[in-house]
Amino acid sequence: MEFQSPMGMHDLFEEDLYYYEKVKKTFQKIANFYGFSQIETPILEKTDLFKKGTGIFTDIVEKEMYSFETKGGDNLTLRPEGTPGVIRAYLEHGFQSAPKPVKFWYFGPFFRHERPQAGRYRQFYQFGLEAIGVSHPVLDAQIIQIFYQGLKELGIKDLVCEINSIGDENCRPYYKRALDNYLKKYQNRLCPDCQRRLSKNPLRILDCKEDQCQKIVANAPQTLDYLCENCKDHFKKLIEFLEEAEIVYNLNPYLVRGLDYYTKTVFEIKADNEKNSLAGGGRYDNLVEILGGEKTPAVGGALGVERVIEYLKEKKLEKVSKKKPLILFAQVGDLAKKKSLKILEELRKENISVVENLHRDSLSLQLKTADKLGVKYVLIFGQEEAMKEEIIIRDMTTGNQKKAPLKNLIKEILKKI
Ligand code: AMP
Repeated sequence: MEFQSPMGMHDLFEEDLYYYEKVKKTFQKIANFYGFSQIETPILEKTDLFKKGTGIFTDIVEKEMYSFETKGGDNLTLRPEGTPGVIRAYLEHGFQSAPKPVKFWYFGPFFRHERPQAGRYRQFYQFGLEAIGVSHPVLDAQIIQIFYQGLKELGIKDLVCEINSIGDENCRPYYKRALDNYLKKYQNRLCPDCQRRLSKNPLRILDCKEDQCQKIVANAPQTLDYLCENCKDHFKKLIEFLEEAEIVYNLNPYLVRGLDYYTKTVFEIKADNEKNSLAGGGRYDNLVEILGGEKTPAVGGALGVERVIEYLKEKKLEKVSKKKPLILFAQVGDLAKKKSLKILEELRKENISVVENLHRDSLSLQLKTADKLGVKYVLIFGQEEAMKEEIIIRDMTTGNQKKAPLKNLIKEILKKI
């Protein structure tokens, strides 16, 4: 085959799209209930937005962005994540003066040039939430609750929310120093990537999946021991909210997540102890300011739609049930075919769902389709009926049929269904 979809990017149709819709609707409903409104931002943003927002020392910015120069000389990037774009829109449209919190949800494709593997694609969908303008931990809990309850509603059991606090600009420097001192002792045993990270962003070493690094990280200092009073209090309150909301959580002292902008809370939701997380996020109290606004607290997260769908399919939690059509419209002869478009349109306007085989001429082939689909009624519109402005309604269960004036068709059908 000469052309195939780009590596790590997929065509979506039929059953897959059913699942995408299902996931979107489930979370959209809950998010709307909690006062989040939808936002759609462009798929392309200025490359600097991610460099500044996501952070130049993150894997995303260092290795994974699809960036290019446009014909007009702009440097743009296919969005690798949603938060910087949403904050850019928040600032651009004057939401700073809106009542707080400003709450948004989004659903759409994101792009990262990662090595494709199970649960990791180059184009993938996320359902995301952002709550901007409130520093209270109840918002952190609410974001977690929406992802957690939505996943439960989709039938996923054994969910665990891993949480940690990575502190803020007051306490994190102390932790960083302690981590740095510890890691330096093992510098030569770290993987080459982490040796490089050591001088730039040692926190990212905690995320490394290499065995040799994980062994070293297992005894590293923990962020929770270095939190200032304010961050400690925030974390304690978050835990109380999660407990009251009966959200199963697990303290993971080495969870830092790959992005630079997080402060205080970070979380990931997993099912069945699987390695890959279904959703993740955290608080980002400095991002609005970094992107040019006033200092504004915020918290958010995103759910990987493909990961959820794969889980639903693997555990057979969601069956795709195709709705059986009730009626087939069959036509025979030139005149009938010509008049068919108008009749079908009248049926559509009444929300009567009908399948047609307009491309066919033979009645027996059209009836075969009706058998295959198992429809209850067939409308037969032949040459004679077309001339007399009539139509035959055949009940496929009893085999009975009757002729009706065309003008009464809708009435006759509505009586039956
Ligand atoms: P992140 O934006 O990295 O915080 O990821 C949030 C969620 O998006 C993760 O928990 C995954 O479910 C999903 N995700 C992230 N990267 C990918 C990817 N390359 N392919 C598929 N899903 C992804």
